Amino acid sequence: MMGQHLMSTYSRLPVAFERGQGVWLWDTQGKRYLDALCGIAVSGIGHAHPRLVQAIADQAARLVHASNLYRIPEQERLAALLCELSGMETAFFCNSGCEANEAAIKLARMIGHQRGIEQPTIVVMEKAFHGRTIATLSATGSRKVQAGFEPLLSGFARVPYDDVDALGLLGGNRNVVAVLVEPIQGEGGVQVPNGDYLAHLRSVCDRFGWLLMLDEVQTGMGRTGNWFAFQGTGVQPDVITLAKGLANGVPMGACLARGSAASAFKPGSHGSTFGGNPLACAAALATLAVIRDEGLLENAAIMGETVRTGLRSRLAGKAGVREVRGQGLMIGIELDRPCGDLVRHGLEHGVLINVTAENVVRLLPPLLIRPAEAQLLIEGVAGLIERFVAEPLGVAD
Ligand SMILES: *Cc1c(COP(=O)(O)O)cnc(C)c1O
Repeated sequence: MMGQHLMSTYSRLPVAFERGQGVWLWDTQGKRYLDALCGIAVSGIGHAHPRLVQAIADQAARLVHASNLYRIPEQERLAALLCELSGMETAFFCNSGCEANEAAIKLARMIGHQRGIEQPTIVVMEKAFHGRTIATLSATGSRKVQAGFEPLLSGFARVPYDDVDALGLLGGNRNVVAVLVEPIQGEGGVQVPNGDYLAHLRSVCDRFGWLLMLDEVQTGMGRTGNWFAFQGTGVQPDVITLAKGLANGVPMGACLARGSAASAFKPGSHGSTFGGNPLACAAALATLAVIRDEGLLENAAIMGETVRTGLRSRLAGKAGVREVRGQGLMIGIELDRPCGDLVRHGLEHGVLINVTAENVVRLLPPLLIRPAEAQLLIEGVAGLIERFVAEPLGVAD
């Protein structure tokens, strides 16, 4: 068995994928799988999209890396485009979601210090996930992620998700400078807050002069049927962070800002050797172009509704199924019991799914999924869940 030289940070399933096309993946034995996970919300425009392949190949043949010590025209174009799409003013590029959040955390602290606050505090949520670096695991609301890595970073205050009253109680805390929150909690179990949650957050932030910082690492880039999940709520955040789907699998993260946050960093404040290099920017530009040109925002909204409606009617009245929820193609099916085994059952049946928060089946299919493929997904996942909940509790394996 190979792999003994890898640190065991993941308990890996015994399958390796060799190639992909659209919503499909093939393993090394030639077996085909419907990819309803996208490498955790990454491959939004599917696998091996010809425009992305071409853009990466062309850019690789010209220039992979220069340095942020020089101008990078692809980076300037990408920043302009992301700002136009999001209503933000400036962008910082990095290589992952946790780094994007690190940038946001540093921005908020910098602004706090500029205001004479020596111990700036950022409000974060229970069950939040922001990454695995020391700062972002400290911001994360999961003991599993933090255990063994203490001392945690100070400077965070935690409140329940989707609870504006609890947040308001921090109004008297003069150290608070920002709120960092996921518009829909992904790792926390596809938790969709009340429709007016972001608007309430915005007004609390405005009242106390706090930055509203949205972690859109998972919800961004069309996943929820808008470019960004905050769009459609009428709320404009001060900072947003992106990664996962941004360059469709070429590692890339971004922190976008407006207002005072847009210009808080000065030369030397922050940086990244690889961040926003020509290759990653070319991949992101191609990804954005495909999402726009192929109408994938609308498709994600429609197909998401189709999948949720289909699953609801297939699973209606089934004991053990609590709820089918989500927005766009970020979908959660909550069961009344731990269901991690469903991932392996899915693999056997040729459907790649994920389970998060122990009892929530999570679907994150490509934004370009078509109606026939969505039907296959509904049938496949409903069948898996039906068989699973029909087993007596405790021997569900
Ligand atoms: C995945 C995720 C992250 C971390 O991203 P990495 O690229 O793994 O560092 C941060 N926030 C949210 C909401 C995520 O879903």
